[in-house]
Amino acid sequence: MILLCPGLFLILVSFSPAGKESLAVTKIVIDAGHGGKDPGTKGSYTKEKDVALKVANLVGKYIEENIKGVEVIYTRKGDSLVELEKRPEIANSHNSDLFVSIHANSLPKGTPPERKKEIKGVEVYVMGAQNTDRALEVAKRENSVILLEEDYEKRYDFDPQSEESYILYNLTQSAYQKNSLILASLIDEQLKKRAGRKSYGVKQSSLYVLWNTAMPSVLVEVGYLSNPIEEKELNDPKVQAYIASGIYRAVKEYKKTIDTQN
Ligand SMILES: [Zn+2]
Repeated sequence: MILLCPGLFLILVSFSPAGKESLAVTKIVIDAGHGGKDPGTKGSYTKEKDVALKVANLVGKYIEENIKGVEVIYTRKGDSLVELEKRPEIANSHNSDLFVSIHANSLPKGTPPERKKEIKGVEVYVMGAQNTDRALEVAKRENSVILLEEDYEKRYDFDPQSEESYILYNLTQSAYQKNSLILASLIDEQLKKRAGRKSYGVKQSSLYVLWNTAMPSVLVEVGYLSNPIEEKELNDPKVQAYIASGIYRAVKEYKKTIDTQN
C-alpha cells in the first residue's frame, strides 16, 4: 500500500521485513524496457525499445542455455507495451530472485553535438533516493512512460516530471540494496572488462521500475543512443552479444557468490 500526502510527499510503504527466505537464484526476470507505442529514447535512427529487446532476449537466452536450474521470465519478448507498474508486479508474482531491466540512454534534446560525441558508455543503476549527476534526468525520462498509459493519474501516486516526487524512499527495495549493489558491481565490471564498454559506474536513481520489486534489482543503461558511434555499435549484433554476455556472466557470478554463502 502506498499513501501519498499531497504537499508533504510523505510516502508510507507497507513492508514485510521477512522478505525472501533465501537469496538463492532460481528465477530471474529479464525486463526489456519500453515497447509498443513507447519507443523509449531515440538516436538518429534507433529506438531504445528495439536495442533493449535485442539485448534482453540475448541475456535471457544465455542464462537459459548456460545456467542450470535457473528459470528466465521475460516481461516482454516482442514489441509490446508493458505498463511500468506491471513489470515489478510480474517479478513479485513469480517470486523471482533477481530483476534485471535493460534500457539505453541518451542526452536530452538540445545538448550540443560536441557533448553528444563526448558522452558514451554504460551505467548500472540500483534503486536509491540520492539521484547523483544525471541520475535524476534518467529517472525522469525512464519514468515518464507512465504518461503514455491510460488513467495514469488514478493509478500512480506521483508525477514523473516533478522533482518533489522523487523525494521518496522505498523500504521494500532497501531490504535488497546490498545484493542489488553486488549484482550491479559485477555487471559494471563485466561490461568494462569483457565487453570493453566505457562505464560511468554503479549509480543510484529513483527508477519506478525498481521501487516495488521485492528482490535484488538492477537497471542497465547499455549505452548512449545520442552518441553517433555508440548508436552504430548498439545496432551491431556482435556488440549486442558482448553486452548481453557481460550481463549473463555477472548473473552467473552473482549466483555463484550466493550459492557459496548458503
Ligand atoms: Zn528506458
